[in-house]
Parts: sequence; structure tokens; C-alpha cells
Amino acid sequence: MTDLAQEKQEQARWRLLPHARRATMFDQLVANEFTPRDQLRDEQNDLLRKVVRWAATQVPFYERRLAEAGVDVEQVTGIDDLPRLPVLAKHDLIEQRRDLMARSLPQGDRLVVWTKSSGSTGRPAIVAQTALARNVYAGAMQREARWFRIDPLWKAGASRLDLPPMPDGEPVRDGQVVCLDSWPVLGRFFETGPFIGFRMTNPIERQIDWIVEHEPDYFTTQSPNLEHLAWAWPSDAPPKGMKICKAISMQLTDSMRRRIEATFDVPVQQNYGLNETAVLAIRCPQSGCYHTHPEVAVLEIVDDDNQPVEPGQPGRVLVTTLTNYAMPLIRYDTDDLATAGSADCPCGRTMPTIGDVVGRYSRLAFQPSGAFTLWRTLRGALETLPDSLAEPIRKYQVHLHHDMTFELRLQVERPLEESAIRRIHAAWADATESANHTLKIQMVDHIPAGPGGKFQDFLSDFKAPDEP
Ligand SMILES: [Zn+2]
Repeated sequence: MTDLAQEKQEQARWRLLPHARRATMFDQLVANEFTPRDQLRDEQNDLLRKVVRWAATQVPFYERRLAEAGVDVEQVTGIDDLPRLPVLAKHDLIEQRRDLMARSLPQGDRLVVWTKSSGSTGRPAIVAQTALARNVYAGAMQREARWFRIDPLWKAGASRLDLPPMPDGEPVRDGQVVCLDSWPVLGRFFETGPFIGFRMTNPIERQIDWIVEHEPDYFTTQSPNLEHLAWAWPSDAPPKGMKICKAISMQLTDSMRRRIEATFDVPVQQNYGLNETAVLAIRCPQSGCYHTHPEVAVLEIVDDDNQPVEPGQPGRVLVTTLTNYAMPLIRYDTDDLATAGSADCPCGRTMPTIGDVVGRYSRLAFQPSGAFTLWRTLRGALETLPDSLAEPIRKYQVHLHHDMTFELRLQVERPLEESAIRRIHAAWADATESANHTLKIQMVDHIPAGPGGKFQDFLSDFKAPDEP
């Protein structure tokens, strides 16, 4: 449980740089966290009405699309009207990029940057961002750091694919460390500690050496990489100096989190975001649900007909951005699956919630029935192995073949004990009682990363039509 007074006290640790002292946004974001729900929703409705009208008059794609759908934007008064609007598919974002650009920008705003989606589904989606949108995203990131009780003067370390360039402007290569005097993004506004970055494509052992040498207080990396680091961590002593980890980009199950927290002896925090939009939600440190940033976007969890599902039910995540007038996204289909938020969060904050983010919809939608459950069975079996048996495992990957054979690849330091293999087979047998699915377990020296250096823990011969 927290309250406005506590959050204001935390916020006082964040000292604005002289040029940013007059910025009021950061204090406003603190206040919004405890604004009565109805008032917060009214404010979101105002933002939404504005952006939908803007899209209908300034964005060629929406002029057409909304007219074709017979939508009178004057009738769109708020979030409750969103289900009447058409959905923006990722392939539209990729193919209609020019027409999705607004002809002009509101006075005082300007275009600053293009962001690119990771391209894990083939071609990247590219979105133009304005100064206003970028500032609001920075505010959302600072809110997240405050919730995680991160000290701005800490040394931040990140092992990831997108890093700031080296001092000579060249991209960071494997083996190189990029060192900055302040944090990326938040260092533009606040006094912060230093930042060090290392490519996530470095071998796990090198990443471990790098952590041991540089001792970051606060460490960020993609979820599977964090798990691989925890499995390969060489000693019983947790990383010296480390106080918090942040897992980004992909789902982390509760048992993965518990294992990582046990190895590193620090809390593992998470957010939810897209490269196309930046951060959208924070995993609540108190309850584990996700709070969406009401200033950034409206998130809907919808069924196959693009209508909202009941609280607690799973559905696809649609995002409507509220501040990016250069290229507003309305009901953008993220291809992510999440559960709809339910009751009030016990943390005391009034911001909207969604439940857990489950995974990629397209990956699941094209799998034979039951495949996802079996994949979860395997992951669960690995995650619940006693530490003594799991110890040689460094990475794992499941490949579903056309003939419905599941191949579990284990990258191991030495062969697993027979009892560990027996446990995995037993869990499999329990889950597959009647179905005719075969499990093959292979032990290998190395599992390569997927396209773009991102590790994929589940591969399948059954693919979405646009998947490479
Ligand atoms: Zn909460």
C-alpha cells in the first residue's frame, strides 16, 4: 500500500536539472496516480476525443478508414466508444506508413524521432514521435523508476540490443562497454548516476564477467537473458552491489521470477511496452497486476470481434496512443495477449489495470490445439526442478515439429542427471495422457539466438502467414 504523501517523498529524491526545473509534468504524474477513478477517466476521455478528431481531419489513413466504417467522430465521446472504431493491424502500420502521418502538428509540438519495432515478425513497424510524446514517455519511465524505488544516483547497467552509441558515434559491438555519465532518457531531465551498457549478444559468461567487474546497482535486460544469467551464475554469492533487476521485452513466469530473485537476491521488476509506442504499463510492485499509464495510452483487452472481454478473461491487447499527434495509433493490434484487469489494486493507486501479459497471440493462434499447454507443461517442469538437478542447465528451447513431436533442447554444462530427465518425462506423461505427442530431449552445447539477436524459447513449424 502506498499513498500520495509517500510517493511525493520518493519523488523528492529526483532532482531536476537546471534547464528542466520548470517542468511540471513529473509532479502531475505523481498526482494522477491517486486521482479519483472517475476524474482520471474523464481526463482520458478528453485526450482521446482530441486525438480521434485530430486523426479524422489530419491523417489521410484515418480520414478514409473512419469514413468507410461509417464513424461520425463527433459521436466519439470517450473510451466507451472505442469498440465502434476499426482496428489498426500491424501490416497496415507497415504498409500505410505515409498515410498514417499527420499533415501537420499542433502548434508548439515538433517531430523528433522515428522508433522502430523489433522486427521479430519480419519487417519492422516504424512510428514517428513528437517532442510531446517523447516527454510523456520519459515521465512514464521516471514514474516506473520511482515505483521500483530506484535511487536516481545509482549506477545503471543494461545488457540489451538497443544501446546508446559509443563516444565516436559507432554502434556498440560485442566485447565493448559503453559508459555514460548519466542515464539514457532520464539523464536529460534529472541528475542521475552513470550508465554502462553491454550487448546482450555477448556470451552469457562474458556478461557475467561484465556484471562482476562493473557492479551495477540497477540492472536491465530481456527476460530470457536474465533467466540465462541466473542459471549460469557461478557462485552462491549474489552479484555484489546489485539492488534491483528489471526484466523487459518478454514474459517472465512467477517461477522464473522466484528463481532469479533467489539467485541474485534482489527483486525483479517488469514493465510492458512496445517499441512502436515505448512504455505502456508497469507491473505493480505490490500486486503483480499491470497499471497502464493513463497519460500515454488507452489499452483494451478484446475478443475475436474486437469487443472488450470480461475482467479476468484473456484477450488481445489494443493500444490507442493519446499524445503522439505525428502518427496517432487508434486501436493498434499489438498481437499481445493479456487478461483484462479486474478489481481495484491493493496498492492504493487509481490508474487503470490489466492482468498478466501472457504472450504473442499470432504465435499461439496458429499452433495446433493443446500445443501451448504442452509448452507450458515443459517450461513448468524445468522451472520446478530442484536447484541441484537444474544446475547444469544454461538455456532451453522447445521446437514443435510438423508431426507434433516436441523437441526440448537443453544447453547444459554437463549432462543432466537421469532423475532430472525422468521428472521432465513424468510431467509430460501427466499432461499428455491420451494425446499422441512425443517428447524428445536433446542436450546440446549451444542454442543460437533468433533473428535480431533475440532469444526464442519456443519455435514451431506452425507459423502465422506473415512469419518468416
Ligand atoms: Zn497496484
